[in-house]
Order: sequence, then C-alpha cells, then structure tokens
Amino acid sequence: RFVAPEPKNNVEDVQDRAIRPSSLTDYVGQPVVREQMEIFIEAARKRKEPLDHVLVFGPPGLGKTTLANIIAHEMGVSIKTTSGPVLEKAGDLAAMLTNLEAGDVLFIDEIHRLSPHVEEVLYPAMEDYQLDIMIGEGPAARSIKLDLPPFTLVGATTRAGMLTSPLRDRFGIAQRLEFYNVSDLTRIVQRSARLMAVEIDPEGAEVIARRSRGTPRIANRLLRRVRDFAEVKSDGRIRADIADMALNMLNVDSHGFDHMDRRMLLAMIEKFGGGPVGVDSLSAAISEERDTIEDVLEPYLIQQGYILRTPRGRMVTDLAYLHFELPVPEKK
Ligand code: ADP
Repeated sequence: RFVAPEPKNNVEDVQDRAIRPSSLTDYVGQPVVREQMEIFIEAARKRKEPLDHVLVFGPPGLGKTTLANIIAHEMGVSIKTTSGPVLEKAGDLAAMLTNLEAGDVLFIDEIHRLSPHVEEVLYPAMEDYQLDIMIGEGPAARSIKLDLPPFTLVGATTRAGMLTSPLRDRFGIAQRLEFYNVSDLTRIVQRSARLMAVEIDPEGAEVIARRSRGTPRIANRLLRRVRDFAEVKSDGRIRADIADMALNMLNVDSHGFDHMDRRMLLAMIEKFGGGPVGVDSLSAAISEERDTIEDVLEPYLIQQGYILRTPRGRMVTDLAYLHFELPVPEKK
C-alpha cells in the first residue's frame, strides 16, 4: 500500500535517518507537545535528573520514534530501542535494563504488545529502578533483585486505550500526537527536500503535503516518488503540475486517499447502506485486519470527517458520498 504509514522496508529506514529531525527545534508542528517537552527537558536537565517516563501515542508515522530520539539527544544521553513484540521473555527485558547507563533512554515501541510477565518486570524498574526477576524453574527457582541505573522509559503506542492501567499510571508524562495540518506538512516536505538536495517550489511542496494523510512519513515517501517522476519526465525541479501528475499516476487522490481508503468508504456505502457497521463486519467485507482498520485506516478518515464512530458502529458522513460524487441519501 503506497500511502501506508508504516515504514516499508529497511532501505526506507536508512534514507529516513538522513532527514529525521534530531532536535526539538527541527520537530515541525505538534506545538503543544513541543512546548511541554521543552519545559520538562530543561527542568530535568537543571536538576541533573533523568526525565520522567514518557508515553507517546498516536497513529503510525506521526513522529513517535523521532520524538524518543529527540528526547535522548536533548538530554545528552544514549537511546536503546526495542519493541513490545520483540521482548518475549522477562529475561529479554532484564538484559536491556541492565545494559543501560545512568540517564539513558529506553524506547519501547508498540508497548501495548508487551506480554503480562514482561510488563511485571517493568513496574519496579520504572518506579524504583529495581530489577526484580525470577530465575530458574521449580524448586531451584529463586528471585534476584538488582539496582538499576536511573533511566527514562519512552513508550510508544498507536492507541493509549490498549495499555493496561497499571502501566499507564507509571508514566509521568503522556503526549498525544495529532495529524499534521497542510502548512506543517509543507514545511516538512521543504525541509526534507533541502536535505535530499531536491529543488522544489512552495506550491509543489503544498501539493504533496495536501495528499499525505496528515502524516510526515507519507509526505517524505511521496516526496521521493515525485522526485523520481520530476527527474525522468522533467528537469528534476518539483513544481505543482509535476507533483500533481505524479500523484495521480500513483493513484493518490486529491485528499490523499489511496485504494484502501476508497475501498473501505465504498464498502460502507455500497454494502452497508452507509452504516452503522461493526468493525468486524467491515474487516470481513474488505479483507483487512481489524487492527489495520482501527490503527491506520479509520483515524484519518474520522479526523477528516468522512466517518463517524457511534455506539452502534461506524457510519459514513455526507462528505464520503460527495467525495465519490454519489447522491447523498435523504435523512430518515
Ligand atoms: P512513528 O514512530 O510515529 O511511526 P516516526 O517517528 O518514525 O513515526 O516518523 C516517521 C518519519 O516522519 C520520520 O522519519 C521523520 O523523518 C518524519 N517526521 C516525523 N515527525 C516529524 C516532525 N515533527 N517534523 C519533521 N519530520 C517528522
């Protein structure tokens, strides 16, 4: 899926490293998060203490990993990165924790996917910098306790509601990332283009920004593909008309919707009379996993006002009918 907000592959990851902002000043948009984090970081630095644990939540591609790296950079410490599904056993987490140096940031992506026994090791570690773990099995099993260096846990999740409350309660700071507006995304595209040595008109940057589903990762990906198009079909400079042509060719429509978004909206209209429809029925109808619908597809469509979540299920709004130039049904 072309506008999927998840990283596509390792190559893209490597290319991203060059354009990923490393300081709060370069972190575009998210004014509330930036302002708060500036204060918390400065206060912690003045006290010469590690920053309190930070929970960052929001849909994929909005800058959670980037923020974790910026926190480490601004605090002048190292960052160790892992993720919920990778930490299978309590020992995996213990190994990460005992490898930390004083003040380090431990970043756990997809923290809602930690298994319960791994999560339990995390509680005393977060609260008292204590490792409390059972080793061995049966009669030979014994518990060992170790002091850990003070550290900052940064946890990222697509949905805060999926965290257990004891885990959520142990974060002193919680930040919610919002979809980016067109002017912030335009700045992101211009910044990335500069770092990639690509020439781009402000109007060209805006065309890409408008069609990026509010998501920096998608904006950067579209920029790379439009650059290819500009180099092959023109003189390499990204102008509005070139960007527009390239994105049409890539099937990204004027709202940044791709075939998956259109398929979901059309299924809701054509198969379910516009809804309300439950997420499981929808998942079966479009052969897409429930998690993908809830984490990736619907947050942006809801934010843009194409879908409503009601207690009886999801419903499309008039905007969805208008988008497909379909007659808006009479209200019952
Ligand atoms: P997430 O962890 O939420 O999935 P990432 O932090 O990996 O998202 O962000 C995806 C890409 O988008 C990053 O590589 C970075 O280049 C870009 N990006 C994210 N947030 C910003 C921002 N606020 N300003 C500029 N670029 C950003």
